Amino acid sequence: MTRTGIGYDSHRLVTGRPLILGGQTIPHSHGLAGHSDADAVAHALTDAILGAAAAGDIGTHFPDTDPRWQGADSIALLRAACDLVAGQGYRVVQADVTVILERPRLGPHIPAMRATLAAALGLTAAEVSVKAKTNEGMGFVGRGEGVATMAVATLEVR
Ligand code: MG
Repeated sequence: MTRTGIGYDSHRLVTGRPLILGGQTIPHSHGLAGHSDADAVAHALTDAILGAAAAGDIGTHFPDTDPRWQGADSIALLRAACDLVAGQGYRVVQADVTVILERPRLGPHIPAMRATLAAALGLTAAEVSVKAKTNEGMGFVGRGEGVATMAVATLEVR
């Protein structure tokens, strides 16, 4: 049996924080605000995996009120979500992510993001897609106020 889950995340761009997406620290004047490292790529993908298993969401398992997750490496949260669904009898077989960010352009960082995410999921980079877009200057993304991310993950019964 195959199950599919969807995830969405957004984080505000602020000064004085690193910009971390897909496990990569990307040089930029602004970074993402959040309780953890605010890696919106990892967060949307974590929610997609949990959603595919109907296993709640990232806020249920890693609440931002819990000091254990302060500054947390979100790639570790992604791995933990994989372990959680593995415990329910599923394995992740494929994932696809879209990142919407006006600046900086993420193209040069996509191969490293795919490699990092694939390693966390126990997959090859060929099984993990990351796509980057701008929002054509529209809305909060277009104004450079934040990032939005979407992800889909497919699980199979082990
Ligand atoms: Mg988040």
